[in-house]
Amino acid sequence: MLPTKSKRNVKPTRGKAALAEPPIVPPRRVIIPRPDVLHNYLDHKQICQYMDYLCNRYPHFVRSYTLGLTHERREVRALEINWMNSANVELSQQLRQHSPPQVYLPANSKTPCPVVIKGEQCRNTIFIEAGTHAREWIGVTTALNCIYQLTERHTRNIEVLRKLRFIIVPLVNPDGYEYSRNKNPNWRKNRRPHKSTKFVGTDCNRNYDIFWNSGTGKMNRNTYKGERPFSEPETRALRSMLDRLGPNLLFFLSLHSYGQSIMYPWGYSRDPPLFWRELSTLANSGKCAIKSYNGREYRTGSISCLTKRTIAGSVVDYVYGVLRVPMALVMELPSRDLGFQPPVEMISQIGHESWYGIREMCKRAYDLRHQIQRETEPALPAAAIYQAGAGDGAGNEVVAMESKPAAAATANTDEPQQATPKKPKKRVKRSVRAQHEYILKLQKSSKAAAAGARLHPRQMPKVASAPPARLPGAHGDGPKLPLGVFL
Ligand SMILES: [Zn+2]
Repeated sequence: MLPTKSKRNVKPTRGKAALAEPPIVPPRRVIIPRPDVLHNYLDHKQICQYMDYLCNRYPHFVRSYTLGLTHERREVRALEINWMNSANVELSQQLRQHSPPQVYLPANSKTPCPVVIKGEQCRNTIFIEAGTHAREWIGVTTALNCIYQLTERHTRNIEVLRKLRFIIVPLVNPDGYEYSRNKNPNWRKNRRPHKSTKFVGTDCNRNYDIFWNSGTGKMNRNTYKGERPFSEPETRALRSMLDRLGPNLLFFLSLHSYGQSIMYPWGYSRDPPLFWRELSTLANSGKCAIKSYNGREYRTGSISCLTKRTIAGSVVDYVYGVLRVPMALVMELPSRDLGFQPPVEMISQIGHESWYGIREMCKRAYDLRHQIQRETEPALPAAAIYQAGAGDGAGNEVVAMESKPAAAATANTDEPQQATPKKPKKRVKRSVRAQHEYILKLQKSSKAAAAGARLHPRQMPKVASAPPARLPGAHGDGPKLPLGVFL
């Protein structure tokens, strides 16, 4: 049946005056369906749709940016949540006076980056990224939960919103993520093929320009560092925003799985950073918040200590070392028994508990902002020394577990290691659980040996922890760790 013209919609025209005034048409609101972010692993398209939905629903404080395109032409998107901007009509007059001055470009502007704020309050931005490693789906949902909390639940989180600006990149590596969803759930790298070889993909968390050379140059490895620093479109996309926003960044958080730990730099060196106490305080605030929420126990410490290996070219080291952002952490989410992709029933639980910890860390970062002055910091420590010929950033000798990094400052890690004769590789298949049990045993024995010798674990002679028995499933010439623990 054809629609007929309703008489009520036709306005009567009375004389010339009526003809001169065009009817006022209210602006049409675009309706974008909201994907269910809390109970599903969304695909890349749905994630973009959710971001579009939020920009449409909360135009006064949410904006979306495309940072770049991947090899398979997918968008790397960032969402800016900035309650304290002058366009926010919900902001009270008093708060508006104290908000930093900003100039917003028109909504249709193709600016690739949020506006850099100038002035006293410039260090107020929290940057959260996830989805660098394709198979770590739970990191993506947790980042989306942060977005959900700061937008759809903004009244509950108004305290942090009134102090801080948030920029969240929930999916850094969409190509790898889609491949992991559809073809190989255990895929870690991106999907850019290497010319004249059969190998595909680079580990985006080894591709940043900080001691990049120390990473592995073997294309078949899961932690392949790439042809050169920033050779990958994903890392270039993130860099485009990080470099520009560097002066505004207060706290950078990288979400990964699975290790149930909150870690601070350095990854590439076993030396602790100058402000390790503040970083440790920050990490512990998140740990305590999560424990009070549901009793889950996180571990805290430096990356090189907790993963028991040195990792060069990671985004956290880049942000902390090159951009000199005051605070930067990695959060390895809990799914130890469940793998990288816990059942969908766990998504909201892990998301909510993590948000509790992340929010607490954001508050603490704000409180610590005046205590960290990195301008006067001396040069970065040298990279840890690698075994000759190995060329593998993941491979290193056993470093005993440290619980208190205080004494670590005195540890001399620049001493050349004594070459040990190489043993033939023996591959034994073990379950992930067995691997974890093995690591715990190894840590206990290292601690006991350190206590016996009255030395800090870091000061242990290398032979004390020998022989570093190998765990299967990982790579490098050092101790083998389960796949989830290498960031
Ligand atoms: Zn990871």
